[in-house]
Amino acid sequence: MGGITSGRRRLKNRRKRVEDYPIRLSVKELNGKLWQGAVIRSTWRLRNREPIEFMIRVYDGFLSIDCSNGHSTFIELDRTPCHFGMHRTWFRCPGEDCGRRVMHLYFNGRLRCRHCLDLTYQSRHIKNRFISLQMKILSLHSKYGLDPDDFKKPKWMHWQTYFTVGFHLNDLYEAQLDTAILELEKDLARSEYFMKRYGVSI
Ligand SMILES: [Zn+2]
Repeated sequence: MGGITSGRRRLKNRRKRVEDYPIRLSVKELNGKLWQGAVIRSTWRLRNREPIEFMIRVYDGFLSIDCSNGHSTFIELDRTPCHFGMHRTWFRCPGEDCGRRVMHLYFNGRLRCRHCLDLTYQSRHIKNRFISLQMKILSLHSKYGLDPDDFKKPKWMHWQTYFTVGFHLNDLYEAQLDTAILELEKDLARSEYFMKRYGVSI
């Protein structure tokens, strides 16, 4: 019977990290290119490996992706409303029984979300990211004299600036929410593990 520390060690090293996947497809990087009929080509290079070519065709509501390694897939696009009547685009993960709404897809021969690939983030990375997002949010509010609780347009501000700042803030808040969810998932996985192995809740 292993003690509590041996269990911990195994838990710590079990999952791969997002940082280990240099190739990913990001909604943000495709922003502005996702109009119907667009063809986007990109080459992803990995050290000591053949480069992988991607051809992405944009259709109404989905992408068709052909990779030079023979992998082809369709990715459904989803839109959710955000502030000021604008919309945000998401990928629907093409993994079997998945279909999660995600910002990034990772490539390990096929494109999948981090849940399908069972990827995690470095804990330090999550905390630093949360703090750095918070700093950015606060500095934007103070730079433009905005009230975090009541995001009204100051009289002197141009509408264009207001929309640009609003969209940027929206991105930051969503990214922050994403990191908070990751932290919760990590805690949940840890407590499920201890409950299963030791019958204790932490
Ligand atoms: Zn998935």
